[in-house]
Amino acid sequence: MVEIKLKRGKEKAVLQRHPWVFSGALEKIKGSPENGDVVKVTSANNDFLAYGYYNNQSRVAVRLLEWDESQQIDENWYAQKINQAIASRGHLNTKDTNAYRLIFSEADFLPGLIVDQYADFLSVQILSTGIEKAKPIIISLLVKALQPKGIFDRSDATARTHEGITAENGLLWGEAPAAFIAVKENGITYHINIAEGQKSGFYCDQRDNRRLLASYAKGKTVLDCFSYSGGFTLNALAEGAKAVTSVDSSALAIETLKQNITLNKFEKKKANAIQSDVNKQLRAFKEEGKKFDIVVLDPPKYAPSRSALDRAARAYKDLNRLGLLLLESGGLLATFSCSGAVDIETFKQIIAWAALDAGKEVQVIKQFSQPEDHPVRLSFPEGEYLKGLLVRVL
Ligand code: SAH
Repeated sequence: MVEIKLKRGKEKAVLQRHPWVFSGALEKIKGSPENGDVVKVTSANNDFLAYGYYNNQSRVAVRLLEWDESQQIDENWYAQKINQAIASRGHLNTKDTNAYRLIFSEADFLPGLIVDQYADFLSVQILSTGIEKAKPIIISLLVKALQPKGIFDRSDATARTHEGITAENGLLWGEAPAAFIAVKENGITYHINIAEGQKSGFYCDQRDNRRLLASYAKGKTVLDCFSYSGGFTLNALAEGAKAVTSVDSSALAIETLKQNITLNKFEKKKANAIQSDVNKQLRAFKEEGKKFDIVVLDPPKYAPSRSALDRAARAYKDLNRLGLLLLESGGLLATFSCSGAVDIETFKQIIAWAALDAGKEVQVIKQFSQPEDHPVRLSFPEGEYLKGLLVRVL
């Protein structure tokens, strides 16, 4: 196995079990590893530190897997990690929910591997060369553990290009899923399109937050912005919302949302789905003098990295200012950020700034986070990406 020696002092983060070694930390590579090979990382004093996947294309030159020298990164090791991750989610599979994340990359010691369960199918994202190399082993272990009908690759993320591997999108094993397959979450049925839907097809990270928000929705008018396939919309309708308006710019999202309204036999006259740019639509509502009891803002990632933070902060601020202006007094704003670079304190500041600009006095009444199938290793704070605030307008 190739050994990679770190510069003096650079062992600290590895000893604290942070899973990334940046290229600038490497002192010497003893041998010529291929991208995706498992390498041994040592300190400047030649002490063993960890095993990890090497990649010379990425800013993260080694993605660490294992800190115990006596372990071998072989089929047994993958079986142990995969089975452990799957077992820890077992209780999430109930009669009401069969869509959730089984494997969450670094949080489950498999950097670059994301696996979502959607009823009888698995949707897989492979975002590192190391995982790409281990793909045959990983697929056979997933088949053995879960007996899915089919496994679909949704690795068309830009993250792959940072690792120097091309995008993939296709059937990896078994049967191809139908254009729309039905999954359940919180007792609500969703049609999802694994092959063409966004990300891996569904945003299962909002499961708990949808339910929490819906508990405030009875008899209320709700505006669900960036609705995608209707997660917040459907939960609010299920809890007896008076009317829900959903806005998304994607035609497929709106079409899927409408299918989901029908599928769950919700009253169509209570649901109004609009295909539009959210900023434009919010301004139009403001012009019309329209108001809502609850506004949900769940935008895509505005800050892909720290360097984009300033611009993202302004975009979040403008969006939230508009959202706040559409609320009745006593109304609630449920606002989210899935940008890892925006931490909860920064997000609170942005919302404070938005409230000031909107001329509204607000109280935070709840804080939202990511659900337990997206766990956060304390040694890897970067894994905490989803945060939100439930804010009451006074
Ligand atoms: N709330 C959703 C997930 C939102 S994902 C859920 O619970 O499932 C973000 C969504 O924002 C995507 O569906 C995307 O199509 C939409 N989107 C991105 N930019 C947009 C814009 N400018 N206006 C409207 N929708 C947008």
